[in-house]
Amino acid sequence: MILSKGKLFIISAPSGTGKTTLAKAVINQFPDLLFSVSCTTRAPRVGEQDGVDYFFIDKKKFIIDIEKDKWAEWAEIYGNFYGTSAEVLNKNLNNGKHIFLDIDINGTLQILKHYPDAITIFIMPPSLDILRTRLKSRNTDSEDEIEKRLLKAENEISKKNLYQYIIINDNLQTAINKLISLIKHEIKSVIS
Ligand code: 5GP
Repeated sequence: MILSKGKLFIISAPSGTGKTTLAKAVINQFPDLLFSVSCTTRAPRVGEQDGVDYFFIDKKKFIIDIEKDKWAEWAEIYGNFYGTSAEVLNKNLNNGKHIFLDIDINGTLQILKHYPDAITIFIMPPSLDILRTRLKSRNTDSEDEIEKRLLKAENEISKKNLYQYIIINDNLQTAINKLISLIKHEIKSVIS
């Protein structure tokens, strides 16, 4: 059995929905599935590591790379830039690796223009109230930032039908199992 070409998975969710935890839980299950580490200009949160959670880079370099067309997609969110390197993405896909992208809806739409076969997955919080509680208990954002994130969440949830798969992260283990089975299903379809 030969893997013909890598598959691109996009996972989106409002901030605080637990998608990073989910993504990390499933990534170890698939040796050929790589988690794409985005670049951002925002400051690291407590416990975040450079090269693991994000590559933390400065705004100047990010903007230069926009001009050089080096981002497969990028976005400015809450005053910070976030992006995915086109070079890294293409290299891995061409090597037959499957890639997991953790990006927002605008990034998803940009990626779909260049990679129309990407598999899109939206993670939903059980409710906005639960999302508010999760964001508060994270203790990393001000009240003001939390309200901004909740507004964005509402907007993103209203667009969830742009995605092929929707998973509600009510129970973490159930959500992990759903994600694993959908990845297995999609990866099988590229095995020849
Ligand atoms: P946070 O600052 O909470 O880590 O992320 C804020 C938002 O940025 C989330 O909605 C997240 O999905 C999005 N994000 C993270 N990395 C990227 C990226 O590389 N591209 C895009 N477009 N959005 C990203």
